[in-house]
Amino acid sequence: MSANSRFETWSDAARKGANLAVGCSGCDRRAVIDGKWLDRKFFVHRWDNRMAMLSQRIRCGRCGARPDLVRVTHQRPTLVLPPQDEAEWRKLVARLRR
Ligand SMILES: [Zn+2]
Repeated sequence: MSANSRFETWSDAARKGANLAVGCSGCDRRAVIDGKWLDRKFFVHRWDNRMAMLSQRIRCGRCGARPDLVRVTHQRPTLVLPPQDEAEWRKLVARLRR
C-alpha cells in the first residue's frame, strides 16, 4: 500500500503537515515541495488536488518532464518557489482572476 492512499486530496495531507517528494526519471532530480505552499498553490489556481491528479500540475524544474515519483513525505522542503510572501500571493490571485 502506498503512503499516498491514506489521503484523498493534497489538502488532507498538507493539514497533517506532510510535504511532497517528487522525482524525475528523465534527469534524476529529486526535490521536496513544501506541503502548505503546494496546497495554497492548488487552491488559488483552482486545480484538482486529488492525490492521483497531483503529477498533472507538477513539472520537473530542470528538464520540464512530469515527475514519475510523487509521494507524501515528512522530510523538510528542499525547494523555495514563488510566490513566497503575501504580496506575491495577492499578485498571483489578481492575475488569475482577471
Ligand atoms: Zn527532470
